[in-house]
Amino acid sequence: MPRERVYLFDTTLRDGAQTNGVDFTLADKLAIARMLDALGVDYIEAGYPGANPIDTAFFAEPRSAQAKITAFGMTRRPGRSTSNDPGLAAILEANADAICFVAKSWDYHVRVALETTDEENLASIRDSVRAAKAKGREVLLDCEHFFDGYKANPGYALACAKAAYADGARWVVLCDTNGGTLPHEVEKIVGEVCKEIPGDHIGIHAHNDTEQAVANSFAALRAGARQIQGTLNGLGERCGNANLVSIIPTLKLKPEFSEQFDIGVSDGALGHVARVSHALDDLLNRASDRHAPYVGESAFATKAGIHASAILKEPKTYEHVAPESVGNKRRLLVSDQSGRSNLLAELDRIGLSVDKDDPRLSRLLEEVKEREAIGYAYEAADASFELLARRLLDKVPRYFDVEKFDVNVERRLNANGERVTVSQAVVKVKVGDELLISAAEGIGPVNALDLALRKDLGKYQSYITGLELTDYRVRILNAGTEAVTRVLIESADESGEHWTTIGVSPNIIDASFQALMDSIIYKLIKSGAPAS
Ligand SMILES: [Zn+2]
Repeated sequence: MPRERVYLFDTTLRDGAQTNGVDFTLADKLAIARMLDALGVDYIEAGYPGANPIDTAFFAEPRSAQAKITAFGMTRRPGRSTSNDPGLAAILEANADAICFVAKSWDYHVRVALETTDEENLASIRDSVRAAKAKGREVLLDCEHFFDGYKANPGYALACAKAAYADGARWVVLCDTNGGTLPHEVEKIVGEVCKEIPGDHIGIHAHNDTEQAVANSFAALRAGARQIQGTLNGLGERCGNANLVSIIPTLKLKPEFSEQFDIGVSDGALGHVARVSHALDDLLNRASDRHAPYVGESAFATKAGIHASAILKEPKTYEHVAPESVGNKRRLLVSDQSGRSNLLAELDRIGLSVDKDDPRLSRLLEEVKEREAIGYAYEAADASFELLARRLLDKVPRYFDVEKFDVNVERRLNANGERVTVSQAVVKVKVGDELLISAAEGIGPVNALDLALRKDLGKYQSYITGLELTDYRVRILNAGTEAVTRVLIESADESGEHWTTIGVSPNIIDASFQALMDSIIYKLIKSGAPAS
């Protein structure tokens, strides 16, 4: 049987841009659109031309996307004609392949928010769809609050959907705007709508307020809808939108869907979905969710020794899909619970081959256990684990020594009489016979130390120019009678690789220093820097 086509509509640049703290530049938007196009989504909703200068500029850019670039905006205002509505005119004039109008479909909102009549709202839908069709655009209608509206007045909600479809809208999109509808309700209501409008003209736009936006999208698909709207990493206001990064692998890898449906994402592109997800986080300058399904660092991580040995024999015993299919990898965590099989597998992944009876293996395991007892957590710090293993197996070159560092925090009045806090660090480094002294000011003591440390490493400087700290996490632990600080630092470099290092000490600066040093040394090893 031929498979049915399901269309993916990405709204990261429009609904995702509503997220608190997200502020895309034009360059960000163009970069995200390129990633989405390479991934193979069918529609890229890019924003509100005419209503927002960056969005207007986006639509003015030349482009070569395969995906349909979609402009978003309201249907004509009540009481106006389509030719006398500047907002509508900007949308119609924008260089877009498709236009997605948003309209009320809940009679209560029509009266209270729009302050107009049910009939005028229907006329606005019809007129706007016709005007966009006349401009040669593909038209979509987002029915706002469709599910709540349908529960309150099914006849009117359906009338809005049918008005758009009858006048030539390619898609009628049912929006769970508040995100409170449950999967069984979505499946029932979408099923009823599909009796009136063919399912291959119905889309679903789910929000994640009960953490079921992905489930709601699939419920709509099962009931007949053939377009799914969502965002990368579920970005979106409040609790976010349906997460396409979870939806795409499920559609591609779960036989219930993959045997019945085709999407525009190829198997090759699926293998890049983890990279796309992390690239968006990088762009937003936020740490990736380790526990994200399919793409998170922990998505295919196993801790207990007994599971690890089974995984090595037959991965399918513990993995629901192959990690490589989505561009992720299997991780067997080395931790205080781990057995030798985890350790061997992890060493193998790093590229250190050790005989399973090598006595150094027991020493390494002991060392990991002792350090974890005082607060280290190697399962969260892959690069520090690798360094520990390499040191015990005698494979870390000597690059440089930090002979001394000094960090100073001063709170004082500046020339304008304002109270300011200034952090300064001085680092004395020995590289071979060369003694280098660097000083830096930072926004805090750790930042100052980092800047001073990486300012001048002599002949090693060129190896670390692409090194960047992407996340810094601090936790106070109670180990024995005194509190200790655990610092985790996530770093990245020009190749896009991420790694995490750890430091533990009663002193936060000292803990940070350990993690910073591990990150630099890891980068030097990775870059093939020679010993001094
Ligand atoms: Zn939305």
